[in-house]
Amino acid sequence: MKIIPLIEGTFTVDRTKQFFPFDPGKDNLQKRPVGSILVEVQPFVIITSNDILLLDTGLGFSEENGRMKLHQNLLNAGIGISEVTGILLSHLHKDHSGGLRSKTKPDKLGFPNATYYLQKRELDYAFEKGAPSYLSHELEALKHDSKVTFLHEDSGMIGDHIHYEVTGAHSPYHQVFFIHDRGEVVFYGGDDASQLQQMKHRFIAKYDFDGRKAMELRRSWWQRGEKEKWSFLFYHDVKNPLWKF
Ligand SMILES: [Zn+2]
Repeated sequence: MKIIPLIEGTFTVDRTKQFFPFDPGKDNLQKRPVGSILVEVQPFVIITSNDILLLDTGLGFSEENGRMKLHQNLLNAGIGISEVTGILLSHLHKDHSGGLRSKTKPDKLGFPNATYYLQKRELDYAFEKGAPSYLSHELEALKHDSKVTFLHEDSGMIGDHIHYEVTGAHSPYHQVFFIHDRGEVVFYGGDDASQLQQMKHRFIAKYDFDGRKAMELRRSWWQRGEKEKWSFLFYHDVKNPLWKF
């Protein structure tokens, strides 16, 4: 399997949960609103024997030339937008789902030949909960599009090679993915397991729906991963995108 991190960038987030681009070489954290924290955003593309899979879609921010950063990153990796065959969505917070729409037709999905896989209950919850964590107008396109495959079960298979499990830890219907290809296992834990250091230290995150559950899950995944030689992908960790046991 070929795994390519698609770095969207570093941002500050304050209490309003708005994301503002932050350049560590130029910007000063002290000048951002009080309580701002730094967040890195990094979707992944994985090329397997059968598929080109995108794991979450970032914020959907654009570059100065008007092109979506996510699309540019894919092109830089030699992958056209129409070559992506599957999009796996861990959950629908705006920093994970912002890039799923078309840039030119924002009421349509942006990857013409991809099947979008998401939990139906996460979509329902997103509309119920709304802003600031979920942007329902950006998710509207998921409601009635033949390219969407809703997952309804707590765990199951997508084709023969991808296993999903609903954890209900970071968000009530958050799911994680296990991608199998030629004897390799890649684990994508979304925001249940989004940074390498979270795997090594026990801590309960305030921003999680069920922080204790997320902590316990991280511990058990890390142990299983070591035993079964998984690769871990970390969405909010630009320095350590990938850990291979
Ligand atoms: Zn999240």
